[in-house]
Amino acid sequence: MAKNTGAIVQASLDALFNDSRFLPELQDETREKALRSLRSILSTPNQVHKSFLRVPLENGEVVRIPAFRVQHNNILGAYKGGIRFHESVNENEVVNLATLMTLKNALHDVPFGGAKGGVILSPRNYTVRELHIICKKYVQYFSGIIGPDKDIPAPDMGTSEREMDWMMGEYKSIHPGQSYLGSFTGKSIINGGSYGRRTATGKGVYYSFRYMFHDFLLANKTWLEKSGNMYAKNLLGNYEKPLTMAIQGFGNVGSIVALEAFSCSKINNKVIAVSDHNITLYHSEGLNIPKLMEYTKSNGGDLPKNKKEIDAAGLDATPLEREKLLTLDTDVLFLAALEDQIHQKNMQNINATVIVEGANAPITGLADDYLKDKGKIIIPDILANAGGVIVSYLEWLQGKDTQFYTEKEVNYRLYEKMKHTFEVVYPPYFSDPFSLRENCYIHAVMKLSTVLFKQGKLY
Ligand code: GLU
Repeated sequence: MAKNTGAIVQASLDALFNDSRFLPELQDETREKALRSLRSILSTPNQVHKSFLRVPLENGEVVRIPAFRVQHNNILGAYKGGIRFHESVNENEVVNLATLMTLKNALHDVPFGGAKGGVILSPRNYTVRELHIICKKYVQYFSGIIGPDKDIPAPDMGTSEREMDWMMGEYKSIHPGQSYLGSFTGKSIINGGSYGRRTATGKGVYYSFRYMFHDFLLANKTWLEKSGNMYAKNLLGNYEKPLTMAIQGFGNVGSIVALEAFSCSKINNKVIAVSDHNITLYHSEGLNIPKLMEYTKSNGGDLPKNKKEIDAAGLDATPLEREKLLTLDTDVLFLAALEDQIHQKNMQNINATVIVEGANAPITGLADDYLKDKGKIIIPDILANAGGVIVSYLEWLQGKDTQFYTEKEVNYRLYEKMKHTFEVVYPPYFSDPFSLRENCYIHAVMKLSTVLFKQGKLY
């Protein structure tokens, strides 16, 4: 099980209770009461909406498909978060992911609250026409609770620009004459989307790593050497060393991480392995990522599945079992596929010193504690994969003004926003006993609590 977001929120509140800089206005009994209020507010969603979409299939049968929209908290702005199409979707998971969105937005100073949607289905089992109907039904069933200033969905696992375009189209039909560009983000560019949105999550994930191992390390080398902290030692141990990388997942996030790593001139790194739902491809001297991307583009998104396909594509790589990627001898591991990938059964075999979470919750709670105690540097989801929602925010702003930024401007703003967060959470991570995940949560919870207090919601 992924680490329960509610439990980390509780732990963050406990840590903040003893911090004199946290809400100094509240002392003694009032402080205890406020802490109890915060516990119940932040660990519970505001609303859980559930519907059973009535979908006519092409074979003439009508099915009911369960769908959710969880609105966790909107103290910082309109609810915001993706819609996931996956067979493993369940209410608990959607609540957990909606909570994570509230915290992610608070951490990165994105003026939105947190929400998440989910539909229990495997997109591969439906035709394009059926998926179109499912998207329209989702908007029809939830039309009263979504909207540019209420709740703004975006893509997530199993959904993309295509689904957002369809959904915005339906929203527009249901609300004629009203503004609609801000009702969904992650749309195609021609349909009001933003340059740089498709690559934003992957770019941000790689940037969270590059910033730590280059910009931050260089600027802080002297005090890091004195700090004595075990993560600082591990960071310095990798100073100017050539780094090997393995990337789990070669979709919208993993392939962009791979490309960023491949073309990075600041760090001497090589991508020795990538994997998808079929296979791991390995090459000790580094894989040709642009060539692999070309291949996946013309082969339904899949990596070559065997030696024959690898040779036919003119690639230099050895095929290995899909699972093998996680335990390879590599310095850095990017997890850009599904949740719960590192767990009790494989955590002892993880060799990487650095693990970056491109997906949401790819490490179980137990494995997270184990790896953290071993001194592994874990750059958590809430920090690393916020590029998507940050550029969603830029898309929403551009839609409001109907003024559009260039790709260069979008990437610049994305990096500036993330850099600002890194500057807040990296220094304490290398000098205090909390993990980076805990530091991020504490920072986000502090912001949410302060705003709740100032808006008079704690008494
Ligand atoms: N689904 C993405 C996430 O989990 C993006 C959400 C958004 O852009 O609103 O962060």
